[in-house]
Amino acid sequence: MYQDPATLLRHCGVQVTAQRLAVLAAVSRQPHGTADDIAKAVRAEIGVISRQAVYDALAVLADKGLIRRIQPAGSPARYEDRVGDNHHHLICRTCGRTVDIDCAVGAAPCLTPADALGYEIDEAEVIYWGRCPECLAQTPVRSGTDEETDTDRTIAHDQAEQPQGETS
Ligand SMILES: [Zn+2]
Ligand SMILES: [Zn+2]
Repeated sequence: MYQDPATLLRHCGVQVTAQRLAVLAAVSRQPHGTADDIAKAVRAEIGVISRQAVYDALAVLADKGLIRRIQPAGSPARYEDRVGDNHHHLICRTCGRTVDIDCAVGAAPCLTPADALGYEIDEAEVIYWGRCPECLAQTPVRSGTDEETDTDRTIAHDQAEQPQGETS
């Protein structure tokens, strides 16, 4: 399905390095992985690689259109090698499982907004949020007895503490 990755990199004007190849391969094996997931996979394959080197490789590959970066709300950026088809994502709110989903109708219709206001649009991002079948299956149907573990994820709240200083 894909041509030789090294050829692909060269074709896109990216200097071929073992690290970039390993990063590309890791993204390909593990679609929608975070930079940390990818770093882990790359380390397992080629040994030591710095976090920064992984970030750099991801940036170069994304910049050249070899991989796509998606940034769901409240999640670190995720990377995939399925590019150029304007597909969308379905994300589980509970476990974060992310899957590809094709555009709702026809070929990239979301690229045609009602009014583009003069912008040249090259990508539309749609994320469907919900709960995956496995998480749904783990949720007891009856409610009320136990705490819902729905929002177990730690979310860094930016609680602006308002000083209650009395100013006169
Ligand atoms: Zn889930
Ligand atoms: Zn995807």
